[in-house]
Amino acid sequence: MAKITLDNLAHSYLPNPSGEADYALKELNHDWADGEAYALLGSSGCGKSTLLNIISGLLHPSQGRILFDGNDVTHAPTAARNIAQVFQFPVVYDTMTVRDNLAFPLRNRGANPTYIAQRVNQIAAMIGMEDRLGQKARGLTADAKQKISLGRGMVREDVNALLFDEPLTVIDPHMKWELRTQLKALHHEFGHTMIYVTHDQTEALTFADKVVVMYDGRVVQIGTPQELFERPAHTFVGYFIGSPGMNLFDATIDGATATIANTSVDLGAGYAAAGQLQVGVRPEFIQLSTDGSGIPAQIKRVEDVGRHKIVRLEVNGQNIAAIANEGASIPADANHITFDPKGINVYANDWRVAPAAEAA
Ligand code: ADP
Ligand code: MG
Repeated sequence: MAKITLDNLAHSYLPNPSGEADYALKELNHDWADGEAYALLGSSGCGKSTLLNIISGLLHPSQGRILFDGNDVTHAPTAARNIAQVFQFPVVYDTMTVRDNLAFPLRNRGANPTYIAQRVNQIAAMIGMEDRLGQKARGLTADAKQKISLGRGMVREDVNALLFDEPLTVIDPHMKWELRTQLKALHHEFGHTMIYVTHDQTEALTFADKVVVMYDGRVVQIGTPQELFERPAHTFVGYFIGSPGMNLFDATIDGATATIANTSVDLGAGYAAAGQLQVGVRPEFIQLSTDGSGIPAQIKRVEDVGRHKIVRLEVNGQNIAAIANEGASIPADANHITFDPKGINVYANDWRVAPAAEAA
């Protein structure tokens, strides 16, 4: 296991990149702590696989260095990095049995046959393939083959890190939860440094201690699920995480007061912010009011989603969402909304601005 350091790392697929837009991965400095489970979350094309492949050595970065426990491995081949990587689609040896596929990484390293037999059985149980160990991989479904790929990725206990690139894409939905749970169990048991790439926020938030959110080739926030929920560092994090995501209101700000849709709103803290300002409030922190206080709003519809209700409103021509408790009745005469100050974040040009007190 190792701490992985990214030092001034950036990558462009173009031979002569000229501006930032030419970089699939914008400049990045980050330590992946030894033994931590990370999710790398972002929409398709934001650079997740590019970053993962640079860490594993499948791709050489056009700028910067990668260190494992302080040792420069930037130019080291994949094999020398001692990393297990599982891809989106199965990579198995069709002519080999399930058992031989799982044993392959261990035999390759000259492990003892008794240990191999025992470890292969253990992994087979984790992926639910105990009864198919003697079968050839050829002829198995894509789902079963991907389970073998996962098992092969997990079989070695002595790797520096385990990298998963959207590994559950072809897995049956009801098996996804089960396999994710197994990966978490594996992390608890062996404490590998793990990086799990996904575009699915639920997968990211349930798997990882820390979530690394990427947007347009850039890491925009690294935090616990709670930090991403309470203090989104970038409007993209607010929008991408949460269901529905954070509401954004154009605002002018003077100290601790914002003006939104011609209404004064108490921010609960003072800001010294300039630029294109927005106030972000998650649906969980918006209340309906019937006494005329707050920002004028019209209820468009109410969706009952089981655990709670989503109230869709229009504010100054903009669609916004509020969340009400399951049992709450939605007053028909509610025509304003108010914000819980502890759920307010201020953004300048899409980046969060800390309140003056927090910044001091
Ligand atoms: P993700 O895994 O988040 O979907 P990728 O890392 O695969 O994103 O891709 C990031 C960007 O780099 C995309 O714009 C993609 O089109 C581009 N890209 C990926 N691989 C290559 C490649 N081999 N050559 C050129 N461009 C690529
Ligand atoms: Mg990818």
